Amino acid sequence: MQITEIYKSIQGESTYAGLPCVFVRLTGCNLRCTWCDSEYTFQGGRKMTVEEVREEVVRLSAPGGLVEITGGEPMLQEKEVVPLMQRLVDDGSKVLLETSGERPLERVPADVVKIVDVKCPNSGAANTFRLENLATLTSRDEIKFVLAGRADYEFAREFTRQHNLAGRVNAILFSPAFRKDATGARDSSQCLLDPQQLAEWMLADNVPARLGLQLHKFIWDPAVKGV
Ligand code: SF4
Repeated sequence: MQITEIYKSIQGESTYAGLPCVFVRLTGCNLRCTWCDSEYTFQGGRKMTVEEVREEVVRLSAPGGLVEITGGEPMLQEKEVVPLMQRLVDDGSKVLLETSGERPLERVPADVVKIVDVKCPNSGAANTFRLENLATLTSRDEIKFVLAGRADYEFAREFTRQHNLAGRVNAILFSPAFRKDATGARDSSQCLLDPQQLAEWMLADNVPARLGLQLHKFIWDPAVKGV
């Protein structure tokens, strides 16, 4: 499979935020989100076998540690990434899969936690989520909405209600988008949607979601990759 990078950092965007995690970042994406901070994954990378990726994860990870499969869009390489995830689960790792949900998720191993980033209007990739994937979600999975304004918030709020997400998944995450050219300051002034404004909307509407901040952007310079 084509791999952009494998590295250890702090998980930043889910209910696992704050935990040490080994990230396996696959090359390539079929979407072009306006605020994407991973454009460097669209090309390049290096070919690695499932076993080579596993060996690198084992080298970096604590036994039974957290491993996140991300990209790009990892499910574009389903034929190899599904066996990789199963291998890591068999090794005893806790495996997270970050995906847009545009590709079918039926073959994702049952023990993998799916973190599905449903795209909102301001992403420029609206309506790309494959609705059939709702049937694959379990009580260990998480749905994330990255929000850049009021239209995104209203979309996420209605999608949450319409599809009864609170009854399907472990967590619903509403997360302000970061400016893709953010650099220097590690604070919420770099967000496209003010977290305080988002909090007020969520409280006013009693949305059954948790407000998420991209923790790694507050720890390291937002421009730094591989963290
Ligand atoms: S799906 Fe992810 S990697 Fe692909 S363009 Fe959107 S934010 Fe970037």
